[in-house]
Amino acid sequence: MKSTKQSLLLEGVTLTYPDGAGRLTALDGVGIEVPAGTLTAVVGPSGSGKSSLLAVAATLVTPDRGRVVVDGVETGTLSRSEKAELRRRRLGIVFQQPNLLASLTAVEQLELMAHVDGRRHRVAQVRERARELLDAVGLSGEAGRRPHQLSGGQRQRVGIARALMNDPAVLLVDEPTSALDHERGAAVLALLADLTRKTDTATVLVTHDRAGLAVADRVVGMADGRLGPDPDPDPDPEPGPGPA
Ligand code: ADP
Ligand code: MG
Repeated sequence: MKSTKQSLLLEGVTLTYPDGAGRLTALDGVGIEVPAGTLTAVVGPSGSGKSSLLAVAATLVTPDRGRVVVDGVETGTLSRSEKAELRRRRLGIVFQQPNLLASLTAVEQLELMAHVDGRRHRVAQVRERARELLDAVGLSGEAGRRPHQLSGGQRQRVGIARALMNDPAVLLVDEPTSALDHERGAAVLALLADLTRKTDTATVLVTHDRAGLAVADRVVGMADGRLGPDPDPDPDPEPGPGPA
């Protein structure tokens, strides 16, 4: 099937926050292009600007300078409501904590997304899509469970499936593995890479944790609000001998 999804493009993006009498520079001339169907991982320490980068890409925060182009749409001139519509139609966001609604089952968390997107949908079609996505994230057996009946990794998978509900062109993922152990974290990253290719999304995943990043198409580093080459492209997987 031919997809018409386009890339995510940031060009010369600078973002500052008020900081006492001055300004704190959270993003400093950031440029990146993420083609459809590929996953870029951005790795950097806490405070380096990763969440700010996603907030700008999500059009939730307006940069001081620079361009943000989402799926071919130049966002700089959009009104507030046009941005909200762009987010509903073209963007999927996976937060560090999936913030599921306690009273809803897994399949209902997904259905809710379709019912708030401002378009009319057939209930049966929405349910079918929700079931397909739960299947794609390995949760077809858990569709009727509520958040407290799911593990942390399963909740994160519901968050990923929910972000894909409206078939976004751009998928933004903030520290998806921070609450998971290494094995579950690696499984979530592999799943994201697989879904990125299958659904042809332009995916940006930010993390401070290098584990499992081999599945990414590209790894870039972030420090002090700037993007650069991967700081550690080929880490030694075997810890060397030495004092414990
Ligand atoms: P990361 O996600 O890599 O930890 P952030 O994007 O959250 O980094 O933060 C980058 C810098 O911007 C940090 O110095 C942080 O304290 C600051 N910052 C983030 N959000 C705000 C905000 N809403 N107001 C003021 N400063 C902020
Ligand atoms: Mg962050």
